[in-house]
Amino acid sequence: MSFRIDVITIFPEYLAPLRQSLLGKAVERGLVEVGVHDLRQWTDDVHRTVDDAPYGGGAGMVMKPEPWGQALDAVRPAGTRLVVPTPAGEPFTQRMAAAWAAEPGLVFACGRYEGIDQRVADWAADAGPVSEVSIGDYVLAGGESAVLVMVEAVTRLLPGVVGNRESVEYDSHADGLLEGPSYTRPATWRGHEVPPVLLSGDHAAIARWRRAESLRRTASRRPDLLAALPADALTDAERDV
Ligand code: SAM
Repeated sequence: MSFRIDVITIFPEYLAPLRQSLLGKAVERGLVEVGVHDLRQWTDDVHRTVDDAPYGGGAGMVMKPEPWGQALDAVRPAGTRLVVPTPAGEPFTQRMAAAWAAEPGLVFACGRYEGIDQRVADWAADAGPVSEVSIGDYVLAGGESAVLVMVEAVTRLLPGVVGNRESVEYDSHADGLLEGPSYTRPATWRGHEVPPVLLSGDHAAIARWRRAESLRRTASRRPDLLAALPADALTDAERDV
């Protein structure tokens, strides 16, 4: 069974990268199916209007609920998660990506302007899970680039999409830590050496070094991640470092 992704947007051409690279190959191999839908096909006025002034006044325009209701009636299979990107959402995480990858598919609703009338997400929750999520603490002009980010994070976790399973399992955030540095040939480059332990052939020593580098990097760049680890994730010796 392939993983089904549907994206509803007023800029369908913005989603062209969904057919490129790793994901493009997964589509070709039948592991993933992608549908991109122009929201304006569900408008019924000559101007194909999707926005209107906000109730209560204020700057900008809000996306009207009617086209979204019709679009979701047509596109979203019952029970499928609806993902609504918004800077006011819950932060998107690797854990979320892994949970979504275990579902049959996802539908994404790309907002523009000041976002989508809130009743769309509220109404859609009657038909299945709805996640209002943010990809970071900054504001984009539209949800399309956020969808590209989330789709890439989810689909590379699907079985068969990334050739080497281990590379996914040892990535940053897979175990709550950042991955340490990586090196390849040559052993000396412009006066910079590869850490000697990596050339030693001693697999236990290399594993210890990688674990130490992962902890060191996480402590210096993302102490919040270390603080959030469960009590048994670190040994007493690691906790003291
Ligand atoms: N008025 C909204 C607010 O302050 O929360 C911002 C709307 S933003 C200009 C337009 C659209 O861009 C949003 O509806 C959403 O689809 C997308 N967007 C902007 N920033 C985002 C973020 N950090 N994460 C996910 N989507 C985002």
